[in-house]
Amino acid sequence: MVNIRAKKSLGQNFLVDGNVISNIVKAADIRPQDMILEIGPGRGALTSRLVEGAARVVAVEWDRELAALLRKELGNHESLEILHGDILRVDFHQILPLSGKDRWKVVANLPYNISSQILFRFIDERALFSELLLMLQKEVGDRLLAPPSCKEYGVLTVLSRLYFDVEKVLPVKPSSFRPIPKVDSVVLRFRILPCPRTDVGDEAFFRRVVKASFSQRRKTLFNCLKSLEYLADEAALRQVFEHVGIDAGRRGETLSLEEFARLSKEMLAAVRG
Ligand code: SAM
Repeated sequence: MVNIRAKKSLGQNFLVDGNVISNIVKAADIRPQDMILEIGPGRGALTSRLVEGAARVVAVEWDRELAALLRKELGNHESLEILHGDILRVDFHQILPLSGKDRWKVVANLPYNISSQILFRFIDERALFSELLLMLQKEVGDRLLAPPSCKEYGVLTVLSRLYFDVEKVLPVKPSSFRPIPKVDSVVLRFRILPCPRTDVGDEAFFRRVVKASFSQRRKTLFNCLKSLEYLADEAALRQVFEHVGIDAGRRGETLSLEEFARLSKEMLAAVRG
């Protein structure tokens, strides 16, 4: 491919390590009937391999120049569609049609600068997908795999645990990319659960409770949740904690998904009276 300068603003670190590329493709376990969404195909390191095995590959690239070049290079593959677009804004329902029970697989070496936003988007749109195989910055991977009471444990950990089974597939060194990034990377697999891991009641309310619980990590749960101002007075909030048997003096980062679920359901019941 013609050598175009990598754009830092688009998180462009291209995979050049043949072993890592092969291991990602192997982990993707592509079947002839598979429909694959690739985010940021870049110079096509993964794309050229994905089109070999899958029924359909849709690749969304935000760099217009790269999308055009890739179309020239791989345009002869009928099963491949290269779209110029922003993965945070494309209409998934329009570009990823579903037929029957089939769901799309996602394979991507993500632009790290927007990886959390991309994950939140996939949480919202998970019904379209069966699994995600994503290369992420190692620190983001650590957050997704962290147990409670760990400093990496946060909103993204709790929400992805609610909707996904997350597993580590492969660590990747900076030398596998050009330009060489300053950070280590990791490939994770997210299997989308057929339904949330635990009943959280109202999911939007649950998210607000989890976000508020981590909003000031040094504050107690009680002080964080007080700021939500859903409950008329502090006594009502104290009663919620008593009912669910969770110490209001704990910090949000110590709560398991199931404890957050209990707390959120009880809070909503109290708010609704
Ligand atoms: N897949 C290629 C590889 O592994 O060599 C490139 C990966 S590079 C880390 C990330 C790619 O995502 C770049 O090609 C970049 O232009 C693209 N990208 C950045 N922001 C994007 C966005 N919002 N939507 C779609 N693609 C984006």
